Amino acid sequence: MASLARTLRPLARAAASSPRTPLTRSVLSRAALRQQAPRCLSSTPKRRYDTDNVTTEGEPYDLDTMTPTPIFHFTETEQAMADTVSKFAAETILPKVREMDESEHMDPAIVEQCFEQGLMGIEIPEKYGGAGMNFTSAIVGIEELARIDPSVSVMVDVHNTLVNTAILKYGTEESRKKWLPQLATNTVGSFCLSEPASGSDAFALKTKAEKTSNGYKISGSKMWITNSMEANFFIVFANLDPSKGYKGITAFIVEKDTKGFSIAKKEKKLGIRASSTCVINFDDVEVPASNLLGKEGEGYKYAIGLLNEGRIGIAAQMTGLALGAWENAARYVWNDRKQFGSLVGEFQGMQFQLAQAYTDITAARALVYNAARKKEAGLDFVRDAAMAKLFASQVAGRVSGNAIEWMGGMGFVREGLAEKYWRDSKIGAIYEGTSNIQLQTIARLLQREYSG
Ligand SMILES: Cc1cc2nc3c(=O)[nH]c(=O)nc-3n(C[C@H](O)[C@H](O)[C@H](O)COP(=O)(O)OP(=O)(O)OC[C@H]3O[C@@H](n4cnc5c(N)ncnc54)[C@H](O)[C@@H]3O)c2cc1C
Repeated sequence: MASLARTLRPLARAAASSPRTPLTRSVLSRAALRQQAPRCLSSTPKRRYDTDNVTTEGEPYDLDTMTPTPIFHFTETEQAMADTVSKFAAETILPKVREMDESEHMDPAIVEQCFEQGLMGIEIPEKYGGAGMNFTSAIVGIEELARIDPSVSVMVDVHNTLVNTAILKYGTEESRKKWLPQLATNTVGSFCLSEPASGSDAFALKTKAEKTSNGYKISGSKMWITNSMEANFFIVFANLDPSKGYKGITAFIVEKDTKGFSIAKKEKKLGIRASSTCVINFDDVEVPASNLLGKEGEGYKYAIGLLNEGRIGIAAQMTGLALGAWENAARYVWNDRKQFGSLVGEFQGMQFQLAQAYTDITAARALVYNAARKKEAGLDFVRDAAMAKLFASQVAGRVSGNAIEWMGGMGFVREGLAEKYWRDSKIGAIYEGTSNIQLQTIARLLQREYSG
């Protein structure tokens, strides 16, 4: 306390005695003054939302009286989620991971068991048939699944963080009552934003919607749509009034069996091969007016908001993946493989790499859980989510790549999972905003804070 006061007092004195800022001064002296301006590195940021910030027990967060806890401190519910999913993934998913990757197909029994485990309605309130848990519980679940299979993880992630959240946040009470019980128990969802000509520049989308006498008609193509083979429920972004540019973008609900809906092509991919990724065509697909999600022309806002949150899920997928790759290799070098009369994990050159990698994973996880907690508390989390996704995907790529080398030839063959983790890691830098797009977001928000 005393040393803090010693540091702060001279700063306060300097601030009090500094001359008043003249109206005109050179650019250089302005820059010099800015550099001297004291600024605390950390502070309690302003709330972003007035609603939404409730604890798992439904009590509002009181940020002023809340006792800070270690970032990895979980509530009983969150810990239960970690334990249950970890067991489910190890016992039920692990035996099928290699086969699902080779066949590029998600076992329908796994999808069904994800529903049975309550993993498809994590944040859906109990009154709509969901598990009624918090956002961090969803993040815990996504991470634990990715530790064993990033493909199952992304299916659960997209369904929960993008699709369920879209209905919860922007749906009418009528549509919540209609769709949420299905999404929680038996219907997989997809999120259709990207198109052949619009990826990073998502709002340049060309899919059009027009009004009909009793609803809307959608025409166009979507590309790279996760879950499209398993899903029956699609959130589709289309432009209702291209003359307004991105302000014409509107979100609709489309069911798979609607006339004019077709899956045109299933992609063959480098990684997350059990997760389906398809091109979808919409040929004059007619939907009733009740399938409008939220308000006309607000689709772009919904997409931005959902992807900001969704990024924390992808970051968790990447930290789970990194941990899975690290553990797989650590077990091998510390238990199985001997060279020069010792376990290869006994050599210092190997130990230091394992220690560095684990430290990187822990740092990435801290970013992920900090972003999740900030979102849950109603604080501004956009920069945190972008940093978490950027860093977690970098760590996942690095650790899973190095893990192959730690295992030597055994890391390179398709007998084990080491090479798969690395292939799966590449997607982290691409979907829900590429790494360059995350850097752009981080830089834009920093510039706003530090300029002027
Ligand atoms: C397996 C998979 C699953 C997916 N799932 C879904 C889904 O469920 N729903 C959905 O809507 N979409 C989905 N996507 C699409 C995904 O979000 C896009 O691939 C992503 O946004 C990047 O778009 P793009 O592939 O067109 O790359 P591009 O936008 O063409 O980017 C190519 C390169 O240019 C860089 N670049 C682009 N703009 C800039 C810029 N302004 N500054 C600097 N660099 C830039 C990018 O960083 C990248 O390196 C999925 C994609 C894949 C591969």
